[in-house]
Amino acid sequence: MKYSEYKPRPDLLKDRIILVTGAGDGIGRAAALSYALHGATVVLHGRTLNKLEVIYDEIESLGAPQPAILPLQLSSASPRDYELLVDTLDKQFGRLDGILHNAGILGERTELENYPADIWDDVMAVNLRAPFVLTQELLPLLKKSESASVVFASSGVGRETRERWGAYSVSKIAIEAVSELFAKENTHPNLRFNCINPGATRTAMRAKAFPDEDPKTLATPEMIMPAYLYLMGDDSLALNGQSIDDQD
Ligand code: NDP
Repeated sequence: MKYSEYKPRPDLLKDRIILVTGAGDGIGRAAALSYALHGATVVLHGRTLNKLEVIYDEIESLGAPQPAILPLQLSSASPRDYELLVDTLDKQFGRLDGILHNAGILGERTELENYPADIWDDVMAVNLRAPFVLTQELLPLLKKSESASVVFASSGVGRETRERWGAYSVSKIAIEAVSELFAKENTHPNLRFNCINPGATRTAMRAKAFPDEDPKTLATPEMIMPAYLYLMGDDSLALNGQSIDDQD
């Protein structure tokens, strides 16, 4: 199926509680808006509070369900931070119907020979450790859902290594493995795990990775939303442990 042709029902995510990480900008921002406009109560996660407040106001002004804001710096989050996050979601909603693990950083575009180890650690913390720990911590709330979907953001360089993509490529290959393992080990009937490779998309991260590219030649985050809706909603119930390419 061509995901760009997927036509979600307007109420696809009605009454769902969905956490979107990195919701303040780029693809995460578009996904948060799109999920809210399809009926979800979106929990807006990010590290920059004012960006989350802007998207919160936008969602409210569109008449979509009132979102929630959950700021957390993923590169330095402690066990206590995760505990508080789970507690907050548990008290406010008592369950979780989906997570879009979208937050990510690029790191350096350089050979491993010269790759700075501190940047390696940062990329691994945000792109790999945080989605693993968050999923693990939130499993009890996901298991209370009638139908929960966990989606991890991958990349073309998450399928096979590519020169000078360093920690980013390694983190994305590893997150595909994490998603697959959660899927294989899961025994809960109402819970599934998949990856999405958004493909080249007009965001700050893409501009940093390809500074000489004309952004106008790229899909906007809004244009790639059908696949994000598809994976989060029940039309993809049969998918578990898969990795899809948004723009193919
Ligand atoms: P952006 O850089 O535009 O947005 C990334 C988001 O992640 C921002 O909201 C950012 O917050 C948040 N974030 C980054 N670091 C942290 C952190 N330490 N703690 C909390 N939040 C953090 O990226 P894209 O929208 O382009 O990318 C989204 C996902 O899609 C990423 O996982 C990326 O790897 C993947 N992807 C993107 C492609 C593309 O072409 N754009 C292609 C392939 C994959 P803040 O705004 O506050 O910095």
